[in-house]
Amino acid sequence: MSALLELKDCRLTYPSNARNEADKLALAIDHLTIREGDRIALLGKSGAGKSTLLRHIRHQLADRASWCPQDASLVPQLKVFHNIYSGALDRHSGFVNLTNLLLPSSHFEAEITALAEPLGISELLWTKADELSGGQQQRVAIARALYQQKPILLADEPVSALDKLQGREILELLVSRHDTSVIAMHNAQLALTVCNRVIGLKDQKLFLDCPVDQLSADSIGQLYQ
Ligand code: ADP
Ligand code: MG
Repeated sequence: MSALLELKDCRLTYPSNARNEADKLALAIDHLTIREGDRIALLGKSGAGKSTLLRHIRHQLADRASWCPQDASLVPQLKVFHNIYSGALDRHSGFVNLTNLLLPSSHFEAEITALAEPLGISELLWTKADELSGGQQQRVAIARALYQQKPILLADEPVSALDKLQGREILELLVSRHDTSVIAMHNAQLALTVCNRVIGLKDQKLFLDCPVDQLSADSIGQLYQ
């Protein structure tokens, strides 16, 4: 499989709060290759660097990747339909986007209804985003990511507010609609059922990188120690 992205001697930092203090290290990666067809579960304790790495990958892949952020980041005043539609803003002219905001087109409504149905949110299209529960917001963010229709998915804990069964179904849907996926997950067990490769981050470094079928319980245990 061809390489989509290769990171070498990559140091990701964030600015220190203290004046005149050097930037702080969030994650250091010596070498990492992401290949077409990978379904990557990005694992590690909170603070390990998962979101930092995903943001960096997103920056590198620019408009080739759909993005599902950790906090759903919906526009609270807009209806669910328009939040999902915002995934397609760059596919249409400003005129089409503005017209659809004022008078939703039946074509886009049909597309978005079909997308919303398997996510269980088709009844909510005309509800304002700030009236949704956390789980509903997360499904809308997933629908918006799907509506971006890019070949690569980058998702940051996309099903953390859903129960295990719903989470698994929706993860399977997400990976089935993309050629390549990189998904940060808080639930390692769930991640391993839908992914074929594990990248584990620990102490701001790459701790493990292997196919799911070669992963040992021991190495997963060490990752979370
Ligand atoms: P994860 O997603 O695995 O929980 P993050 O990528 O959010 O981890 O963070 C990695 C590390 O970098 C953490 O220790 C976090 O506190 C730190 N960090 C990253 N960005 C910032 C920032 N802008 N301000 C303060 N700390 C940050
Ligand atoms: Mg995170």
